[in-house]
Amino acid sequence: MATTVERAGTPGSRQSTAAGSVLLQDSQQYVRDAADILEISSSLFNLINESEREITVTLPVEMDDGRIEAFTGYRVQHSRVLGPGKGGMRFHPASDLDEVRGLAALMTWKCALLNLPYGGAKGGVVCDPALMSTAELARITRAYANALAPFIGAQIDVPAPDVNTDERMMAWFRDEYERRIGRHEPSVVTGKPVALGGIPGRGESTGRGVALVTVEMLEKQWINPKDARVVIQGFGKVGSEAARRLHELGAKIVAISDVSAGLYNPNGLDIPRILQAVHCRPPRLLREYLSDDVERISMEDVLTLECDALIPAALEGQITGENANDIRARVIVEGANGPTTSEADQILTERGVAIAPDILANAGGVVVSYFEWLQGLQGNRWTLEDVRKQLDAEMRSAVNNVFRESERRKISMRQAAYLIAVERVAQAVSLRWSQM
Ligand code: NAD
Repeated sequence: MATTVERAGTPGSRQSTAAGSVLLQDSQQYVRDAADILEISSSLFNLINESEREITVTLPVEMDDGRIEAFTGYRVQHSRVLGPGKGGMRFHPASDLDEVRGLAALMTWKCALLNLPYGGAKGGVVCDPALMSTAELARITRAYANALAPFIGAQIDVPAPDVNTDERMMAWFRDEYERRIGRHEPSVVTGKPVALGGIPGRGESTGRGVALVTVEMLEKQWINPKDARVVIQGFGKVGSEAARRLHELGAKIVAISDVSAGLYNPNGLDIPRILQAVHCRPPRLLREYLSDDVERISMEDVLTLECDALIPAALEGQITGENANDIRARVIVEGANGPTTSEADQILTERGVAIAPDILANAGGVVVSYFEWLQGLQGNRWTLEDVRKQLDAEMRSAVNNVFRESERRKISMRQAAYLIAVERVAQAVSLRWSQM
C-alpha cells in the first residue's frame, strides 16, 4: 500500500517570518557598524558576515496515527574560524532559514565575545511540539540527528537545547548520532542529562548568567538589586531560572509572562510557589496558575510596566519601534536572542535606557556548554560548585570588559560587545588567510 507523505508546518512556514528577517538584518548592521569603527576592509567584512554553510533537510517522521509527515529542518554554520560551530536547536512552527541564519551569526559573536574556542551555528525544525506526543518528538529528534550526522561532531558543530527543546531531546540526539557512527562521542551535543554525560548546572546556566548580568547592570545604574523591581517576559528555561535566581538574591519580581498569560503583583510574586506549580511534566502554563495574590495582565502590558529591570526572555522581535517609547524600564537585559529590534534599540538608547545585549546577557548557557564539552572530551567530572564558580567569574569578567569598552569609547554596551567580538573573529580570519 502506498504511504502518503504530508508536509508539516504552518502555511508559509518555509518563507521568512518578519521577526527572523529583522533579526538577521539587525545583527548584520551591528557587525557592519563595528567593522567601520575597526576599519575592516569590505572583503574581510564579507568573509565574516556571510554564513559558511547552510543545510536544509527534509525529515520524514511517522506520526502516532501511522501517517508519515515531512518536516523541514535547518542547520546554519555561520563561522568555524575560532573553533567548531556551537549553537542550539529550536523546534518552532515559525522557524525559518532567515531566523536560523541570524541566530547562528549571533552565536559567532557571542562565543567570540566570551573568548570561547567556538564558532557560531544554530538549528531549527519547523514543527509545533505542543501538538506532538513524546514518541513523535523522539522520532523527529532522531530523524534530525540522522540527517545532520554528516555535518556535525564534537570538532565540527555541536548543537544544544533552545526554544522548545530540552535535555531529553539531547539524549535522543546523542544516542542516534552514536548509533550511526558506531562509537561514543558525548561532546557531539551539550545540554544532556547529567546521567548521560551532562554537566550539573547547565539547565540553570543561561538564567543564572542573566541574573548576574542584571545585578551588575543595576549596580552600574546605582540601583540596589535588593530594592529592584524586575519584569520577565518568557517563563521557560531562561526566564524561569533568571526569576528563581533574582528572587533568591532579594529582587522583587513584579511581573512574569509566558505564551499563555501575564501575572502581576506590585509587591513581588511568590516565585518559588509559581515554579513549583508550573515545573512538572508535562510543564504547566502560567494561565493555569491560580492564586488570590496575582493580577492577570495581558502579555503586551507586561513589557511596558514601570520597573527597574526588564528581562525579555521569550523570542526575538518583542521590543520594536512600535512599543519602545512605552517601555518604562531603566535597564533591559536581553535573556532572549534578538528581543529588541535595531529601531527600538536606537530609541531606547537615546532615552538613556541601559541595555545588556543578548550576545553578552544570555551567554551563560554557552559558557557552561563549553565546560560540558570539555568534560566529554577529557572524560572527567565537574561539580555544581565548580560550574557555578567558573560561570560567575566568566560572566562578571565579560560584563566588565564590555562596560569598560563602552565607557572608553562612549558607545552603547551593544556596540562595545560587537566591537570586541568582531575584532577577535576578523583577526582570526586575517591570520588564517594571510599569505605572508
Ligand atoms: P523555552 O522554550 O524554554 O521558553 C520560551 C518561553 O517563552 C516559554 O515560557 C514560552 O511560553 C514563552 N513565550 C513564547 N512566546 C511568548 C510571547 N509572545 N510572550 C510571552 N512569552 C512567550 O526557551 P528558552 O530556552 O527559555 O529560550 C528563550 C530565549 O532565550 C530564546 O530567544 C532563546 O534563543 C534564548 N536563549 C536560550 C538559551 C538556553 O540555554 N536555553 C541560551 C541562550 C539564549
